[in-house]
Amino acid sequence: MKEGVNSPRLIFEEKKAIKLFLWLFYICFISYEVFWYFVLPNFTDYGGSQFPGNGLGFWFYFGVLCILPVSIFLYLKGNPYIIKYFVLASYVIFDVVDNLVKYLGSDRQFASGNIVELLFLFISPIFVNKKYFWTVTFCIVGKYLFLGIILNDPNVLSPIAIIVILLVLAYIFLTRFYSYINSLTLVHEELRHKEKLAVMGQMAMAIGHEIRNPISSLKGFLQLQQENHPNTNEYYPIMIQEIDRINNIVNDLMYIGKPRKIKFEKASIKEIIGYTVALTNQQAINQGIIIETEFKEAIPMIDCDESQLKQVLINLIKNAIEAMPDGGTIKIRAMIISSSELQITINDEGYGISNEALTNLGEPFYSTKKEGTGLGLMVTNQIIKEHRGEITFKSNLGIGTMVTIILPISSEKD
Ligand code: ADP
Ligand code: MG
Repeated sequence: MKEGVNSPRLIFEEKKAIKLFLWLFYICFISYEVFWYFVLPNFTDYGGSQFPGNGLGFWFYFGVLCILPVSIFLYLKGNPYIIKYFVLASYVIFDVVDNLVKYLGSDRQFASGNIVELLFLFISPIFVNKKYFWTVTFCIVGKYLFLGIILNDPNVLSPIAIIVILLVLAYIFLTRFYSYINSLTLVHEELRHKEKLAVMGQMAMAIGHEIRNPISSLKGFLQLQQENHPNTNEYYPIMIQEIDRINNIVNDLMYIGKPRKIKFEKASIKEIIGYTVALTNQQAINQGIIIETEFKEAIPMIDCDESQLKQVLINLIKNAIEAMPDGGTIKIRAMIISSSELQITINDEGYGISNEALTNLGEPFYSTKKEGTGLGLMVTNQIIKEHRGEITFKSNLGIGTMVTIILPISSEKD
């Protein structure tokens, strides 16, 4: 898996894999050599004639044995992630040198290989590491190609053929491991996200309840005060407006804990859009923004919760306005895209959303604005989801953003 993630759990897993690998490596290596030099010649014409063979002779075995103490040292002291590379590189180097000494300048036919090479390949998925898998592939296949070219001997082709078959198998295992681990991680992420929302929701509900009551009595008394002493204080409307703003934030917050129950009724999208544009138009005009609407054809009434869809459009239009401090045009289009679906797009010419920010959209409290709450899109997503619709964002930095909403026309399940 990911190297460099220094989680004790992952290091423990890597160490477990390394231990297994080293055991298998030496058991295979020694048994193969014993079999080749001491067992096989007793029964067949094959096998090594004389141990330790020519080439590096005993030095080869000494070298391979020395890999063990260095690995143990790295295991205990250093970075366990590099042991597998160290074993691979050392073995391949010893083996290449051994073969060069054995065959270079002699007219013997190339016949080499130890089962540990196949082990390197076949066992490589246990590290669940694609980089290691490709390094093994490169080293082992590279070794045979290199020897084949240097010794000018086509006999290297048969071990390469076997290796390629094993490579394919090992690669299948490896991708299966990866895909399984990815699914596990995704499920885990989803669960964590849900839990986070649940905890935040409970908090938001509790705090929201406590804030709502004092706020509404504050607003009530303020209105009373204004009625009793009209025209004496120009700050009343501002105070009431600000109280309403707090109320809206509290309402959005409480949405996390308990999404409002949705009431499906037939409503006209054209009217909903018209209403929300009228509501936000003043703010737009103040910023030099023109809001255009376009309805391609007659739009039928759709089953929806009108007040909630108004909320969605207000949130999206406000975001578009807030993204265009230098003015421009916002285009809102509605059209029928199939017999059962309606599409609404909101196009702005604002500063756009970076790819990284796109992945965070709709996370509660994610906001890049100084005065943003980061609740608007969360509520929006939730409402669209409850309508069994879809919302997507496409954006180009510096050019603008397009929000696309697809809603079913009828609330009846197919
Ligand atoms: P808020 O508006 O309070 O910041 P929202 O949930 O409405 O919270 O939006 C979250 C963030 O998404 C914004 O802070 C902004 O960075 C980004 N965003 C949303 N809509 C747009 C848009 N049309 N253009 C650029 N950025 C946007
Ligand atoms: Mg917003």
